[in-house]
Amino acid sequence: MTQQKHQREDRTLVIIKPDGIQRSLIGEIIKRYERLGFKLVGLKMLVPTPEFIEQHYTLDTAWRQKTGEKTIAGYEKKGLEPPSRDPLEITAKILANLKKYLTAGPVIAMVWQGAHVVEIIRKVTGGTEPLTSDVGTIRGDFVFDSYQMSDNDNRAVRNLIHASGSPGEAEREIPHWFKREELVSYKVFQEKILYDVNLDGILE
Ligand code: GDP
Ligand code: MG
Repeated sequence: MTQQKHQREDRTLVIIKPDGIQRSLIGEIIKRYERLGFKLVGLKMLVPTPEFIEQHYTLDTAWRQKTGEKTIAGYEKKGLEPPSRDPLEITAKILANLKKYLTAGPVIAMVWQGAHVVEIIRKVTGGTEPLTSDVGTIRGDFVFDSYQMSDNDNRAVRNLIHASGSPGEAEREIPHWFKREELVSYKVFQEKILYDVNLDGILE
């Protein structure tokens, strides 16, 4: 029987998008994840190509359909007519704009590790549209863009960060951005406090 991995080995991919770097938010963003107790196991700066970004968003073959449907539902919820009823047509436009956005300058790619890391990093990053992201989240606290404004200007919504949406997404995205040897396996001593069962060895 293969032993199940402990949750402390969960990993997620985070990208600080070009606007996050231009807004001088690198330190602020890293601080938010680091102070939760997560461990940074991979980090690099690069200027991605449009092909690389298209591959990133379409690693999940259902992404085009799902994103199109989600976007149409979003318009309907606001009582607005979507620009198209065809999910794939909507996504094609979103993808073209994402390619422009994410290749506009350097980005920082990171892999973070720890229990429930995918879910908790999504929680502190905040919802996709900064206009409605909760106060206290990174997107809610540091940017104010909206779908209304970005759609009017035919560009991607500027939301500072990409973070994997599910453990499955993380598993596909991490190897797209990092070679195995670029990720470092190491200990940080606070892990004893975060995960140790007996919490012994503190008292002298
Ligand atoms: P994320 O995981 O929070 O980044 O969101 P998704 O994976 O669902 O969407 C990826 C990207 O597609 C977002 O960062 C947006 O740029 C774009 N997007 C998603 N939903 C919508 C929408 O309803 N309207 C528009 N205009 N763009 C969207
Ligand atoms: Mg996503």
